[in-house]
Amino acid sequence: MSRKLLLAGNWKMNLGLTQTEAYFSKLKLPASEQIEVLFFPSTALLERAKNAALKANPKIQIGAQNTHWELKGAFTGEVSVTVLKELNIQWTLVGHSERRQLFGETDQTASKRALTALQSGLHVLYCVGETKAERESNQTNAVLKRQLEPLLKPEFKSYFGKTLALAYEPVWAIGTGLTATPKQAQDAHHEIRKRIPAPEHTRILYGGSVTPETTSELIAQPDIDGALVGGASNDPEKFSQILTNAATI
Ligand code: PEP
Repeated sequence: MSRKLLLAGNWKMNLGLTQTEAYFSKLKLPASEQIEVLFFPSTALLERAKNAALKANPKIQIGAQNTHWELKGAFTGEVSVTVLKELNIQWTLVGHSERRQLFGETDQTASKRALTALQSGLHVLYCVGETKAERESNQTNAVLKRQLEPLLKPEFKSYFGKTLALAYEPVWAIGTGLTATPKQAQDAHHEIRKRIPAPEHTRILYGGSVTPETTSELIAQPDIDGALVGGASNDPEKFSQILTNAATI
């Protein structure tokens, strides 16, 4: 397999400035060259996190949790790609289910954010996933198809397998302690992979209550190329254990 594993931690709005410094001094990275490590701190922590990560290990990448589709303008509360680039931020998360469910993000707005970020040279981790009701009514594949549709426009094509990665995050598994079974996750990843350009080269991460205990079995699935970890990434020891377990696959 030519896809390098990507293990990402989404801190959401949990950690503060002092914890950011301490976090990177406690984090242990595996020696494996086959694993990339990435964190999404909240916007106000980006500069501090970038500096602390650089000091701890230059291989650690830092991303924003969101970014706007315009490069500047009257968009109170948003952050621009321009500023992210000034801060040397390499990645942005787009379309996280908390943005979709709590802040009105749609497939259209998420894809606009992604396109601007990609065109500006940022890497994008784009989230998709079904709700509990959608899974229970056998809508999972239809939802994934609908969420992926805007990314299948020609302007995205050249980014697949390069700077665009996807995260399958079933909404019912996020922050609930209900991890998808390896088979449920593999089936959804396979479904996503068969719909996208450059399927052999595009990384698809699983997210949803990943813990050190569930990491190995999930990552061992053929279509799972890493994990997007929320809760367990807030604790540097737990996240280090996730990295160690991923490195043994
Ligand atoms: C997430 O926020 O992307 C996530 C997967 O959260 P958790 O691991 O807490 O379910």
